[in-house]
Amino acid sequence: MYTSTFPSKLPSIGTTIFSRMSALAQQHGAINLAQGFPDFPLHPSLMDWVTEGMQKGYNQYSPMPGFLPLREAHAADIHRRTGTIVCPSEEITITCGATEACFTAITTIVQPGDEVILFEPAFDVYLPAIYLAGGIPKSIRLEAPDFDIPWDKVKAALNDSTKLIIVNTPHNPTGKVWQHSDMIALEKLVEDQELYVLSDEVYEHIVFDEHQHHSALEYPGLREKSLVVGSFGKTYHVTGWRIGYCIAPPLLTKEFRKVHQYTTFAAASPFQYAIAKALLETSHMDGLRSFFEAKRNFFLDSIKSTRWMAKPTQGSYFQIVSFENISSLKDVEFSEYLTKEFKLASIPVSVFYQQENAPSLLRFCFAKSDDTLEKAVRLLCHISASL
Ligand code: GLN
Repeated sequence: MYTSTFPSKLPSIGTTIFSRMSALAQQHGAINLAQGFPDFPLHPSLMDWVTEGMQKGYNQYSPMPGFLPLREAHAADIHRRTGTIVCPSEEITITCGATEACFTAITTIVQPGDEVILFEPAFDVYLPAIYLAGGIPKSIRLEAPDFDIPWDKVKAALNDSTKLIIVNTPHNPTGKVWQHSDMIALEKLVEDQELYVLSDEVYEHIVFDEHQHHSALEYPGLREKSLVVGSFGKTYHVTGWRIGYCIAPPLLTKEFRKVHQYTTFAAASPFQYAIAKALLETSHMDGLRSFFEAKRNFFLDSIKSTRWMAKPTQGSYFQIVSFENISSLKDVEFSEYLTKEFKLASIPVSVFYQQENAPSLLRFCFAKSDDTLEKAVRLLCHISASL
């Protein structure tokens, strides 16, 4: 029988902040700029293609590594955009969202006692997976407002037990985009080491201003040691479809699939069919930068003359905002207060740190319709004026 003394495998982990804030937003009728998902509709063709997939009979298990035409279309798209050659049959695995891909990648690589370097603030999926694999997280703190990678600290954290480095670019929650020089530094670091890289690149198409996304796939020294994770849910505004992927060299993919086949076996067939069709039309992907940049700029321009402080996010669909000049509450309390009293939900950034002393920052998701964003920025201006 379950009792309160049940020996939890994750004693320090609760329900994710995303579920909690979405529930709180719903309960209080608040605008939800917390959990990262679009509230605007998907492209109608995607719906037609799901239906077509079902009508054509793609309703049973897809092959365990994923629907082959999807993997082929994806490899062709990567080649078109970056010139990188990826083998669809031996190097791409379709997963149930990027969350499964990250979890599976960590489970594949990390053995009990292995150390894993990650950067905080860190997206919340990594730590539990490290703990469940018996790994030891070694967090390196990134400091606001620039969240630059302190390479001296990374080098100092490295030792014979280090097995994996987790990279996330564009970064959730800060939007930080790794520069070419960061990728080179990482490439140098893993050279001649039995050290692997999990490169979480789910916001790969959402980068702004002068910034460019640099994938681990494009650096030979990283390519051979990396598991690169991405998300069609993010790219096609369909996060609920749960279609992600992992790209890794054949040997790593072979091991990755051993875990994937007993975690979820395969992702949903008709959705894979639809995305395979969508990938053949390149204009959507190429338009994502300007589509989201307009939303980010609207958000930032609207709060420019308030007491909220923000440095333009470099990528992802999140904007970090400081409330230092507005409230002395802790970020968790403040975001709950705003949700309940002002009907605006956000994510407190401290939840992405293991240490307590987090800065006064909230994360807002601007992947929302113009109408939602207009209402949200009106609330932000009102909050700044009234507190
Ligand atoms: N990636 C999304 C975010 O950061 C949430 C993912 C989830 O809810 N599991 O908001």
